[in-house]
Amino acid sequence: MSANIIDGKEVARKLREKISRSVKEINSEHNIVPGLAVVLVGNDPASEVYVRNKGIQTKETGMISYEYKLPESTSEDDLLDKVKLLNDDPNVNGILVQFPVPKQISQQKVIETILPSKDVDGLHPINSGYLNSGLEGLVPCTPQGAAILIKETCKDLTGKNAVIIGRSNLVGKPVTQLLLKENCTVTICHSRSQNLAEISCQADILVAAVGIPNFVKSNWVKPGAIVIDVGINRILTEGDSEKKTHLVGDVDFENVKEIAGSITPVPGGVGPMTIACLLLNTLNAFCDQNGILRPSL
Ligand code: NAP
Repeated sequence: MSANIIDGKEVARKLREKISRSVKEINSEHNIVPGLAVVLVGNDPASEVYVRNKGIQTKETGMISYEYKLPESTSEDDLLDKVKLLNDDPNVNGILVQFPVPKQISQQKVIETILPSKDVDGLHPINSGYLNSGLEGLVPCTPQGAAILIKETCKDLTGKNAVIIGRSNLVGKPVTQLLLKENCTVTICHSRSQNLAEISCQADILVAAVGIPNFVKSNWVKPGAIVIDVGINRILTEGDSEKKTHLVGDVDFENVKEIAGSITPVPGGVGPMTIACLLLNTLNAFCDQNGILRPSL
């Protein structure tokens, strides 16, 4: 039987709706609204689309969007100065610098310059420390979105075997921590792991965050497993002379959906959750900064 297709768009829409209601309630009680600053350096077309969508969705939830576009030639010092100005701006509750940044700028320095309390990407070592310690901080958006989809699909994750393929700070490691928090038994794999297929076959929950199109095959998947495809890979559309591209995930979706119990599509799975969780982080950061209890959404 074909798997249940997890509708990330719908889950993200519902989450944004709840965020929007919360923003309204807080505004009517305290007369303040959250502000999110997004900084884009350079002209990468994919980044421009992401930043535009972030701005639109920020405004739709009733928050204020501050957008800054800096030239490709921006120096590291100039970008860090911009971040420091935003750190000091009381109207800005969350700061996101769109990655990747041009090669003259250290991504890690940018991450570490953003105030941890405004780090809505959740990448500052202080926030990863909170996550690793099981404390409340700001959690990276994509892993948070993946974990929400998993919990929507299976209410009690206690004792489930989760296998994560990928160990990046952006996705693999935070997903591991989030699933540990849900009492899963977690195995994390990477490019040096042996017997990947054998390990993956043990997974009740299989998360792929690798960056290789169609990497996870159907014979790596336990029948009935929840398969979460974080991958976003742009590949050439076959047989099209105009060199059009389309998106595929890290999972061989067409074949794996015949084995899995539930699976996220690409696009329309984890992707839409990322911006929704960015807005959730902005709301949470705003509440923390203003001494307001975080809403439980
Ligand atoms: P990354 O930093 O390149 O990490 C990739 C991970 O995959 C690494 O840990 C690497 O292992 C592992 N890997 C590579 N080849 C492998 C192999 N042959 N076997 C097993 N593991 C292997 O990528 P990322 O930032 O985590 O992103 C992963 C994917 O998610 C990408 O497709 C990215 O576009 C996508 N993504 C999507 C969103 C979203 O909004 N949905 C957000 C972020 C990322 P090593 O550590 O040993 O090198």
